[in-house]
Amino acid sequence: MIRVENLTHVYLRGTPMESVGLRGVTLAIEAGERVGIIGPTGSGKSTLVQHFNGLLRPTEGKVYVDGADIHQRGVNLKTVRQMVGLLFQYPEHQLFDETVADDVAFGPRNLGLDGEEVERRVTQALEAVGLDPQRFARRSPFTLSGGEMRRAAIAGVLAMEPRVLVLDEPIAGLDPRGRRDLLARLAELHRRRKITLVVVSHSVDEIVRVVDRLVVMHGGRVAMDGRLRQVFARAEELAVMGLRVPTLTDLLRRLRARGLDVRTDAVTEEEARAEVLRALKASGRSGRQSPAPGPLPQGRGG
Ligand code: ADP
Ligand code: MG
Repeated sequence: MIRVENLTHVYLRGTPMESVGLRGVTLAIEAGERVGIIGPTGSGKSTLVQHFNGLLRPTEGKVYVDGADIHQRGVNLKTVRQMVGLLFQYPEHQLFDETVADDVAFGPRNLGLDGEEVERRVTQALEAVGLDPQRFARRSPFTLSGGEMRRAAIAGVLAMEPRVLVLDEPIAGLDPRGRRDLLARLAELHRRRKITLVVVSHSVDEIVRVVDRLVVMHGGRVAMDGRLRQVFARAEELAVMGLRVPTLTDLLRRLRARGLDVRTDAVTEEEARAEVLRALKASGRSGRQSPAPGPLPQGRGG
């Protein structure tokens, strides 16, 4: 679906402010995949995803979408942007219309679709993000809560019916419930429409709910790329980059360090619980007893 080859991006090249965003990144994302992109601040995550729909032009290297080099002559970037919907950080800052419906309709109207089709798309997009069209369509976006505004902005991109949805830090600034709700919606969108999902996030605990694969960026390069458990198995290397594993994975590792024979690659609560119970049974300890001698170390809660 998306392939970047040897992608390098230099900002403000040839000026004293020159800074390198990406250094030779090669990466492929298949149709229907759910990919998370993590990495410390400044590691190139935003720069990378802005190449996926042609918003940024590579300094060097190629970007292919659906097999076509998007910067070759004759390719209409509008078509690419329709296929690859990109949401910036804090996309609600870009809401501007008088009503939620008009805002969501902006893209489809620009495509020249007729009124009925625009309306169908607006309704569907609002429903997909959990904003009841009856209640929200006629409201001013500026009267919505933070989470609702975020959803309205996402609906505006969904109304273009993209095949790929790229979200840069979609849950940043939302409260825990807003985060959970939004991630559940994204997971459902993937389930129902088989949309390809690319999610940039700081929060490993949350991102594991919606992705199967993780790309770890560091210093403008891909440092790791694999299934969740493959990446989290490399906790020490992640720590060197200032990244941590999910709280649950960390807990399993601590239990193991204290002598409980658990596998440490579970990533969801259900898997972790099952694994702890299994290990307790196998070790002959009941769930009522302390699973390991002595208290767990203090600090770094979560
Ligand atoms: P991340 O999203 O992982 O925090 P970015 O892609 O925003 O990282 O940034 C990667 C590098 O590129 C950083 O060193 C950053 O300072 C630089 N950079 C990002 N955007 C710009 C810009 N608009 N102008 C100049 N340098 C930039
Ligand atoms: Mg960023």
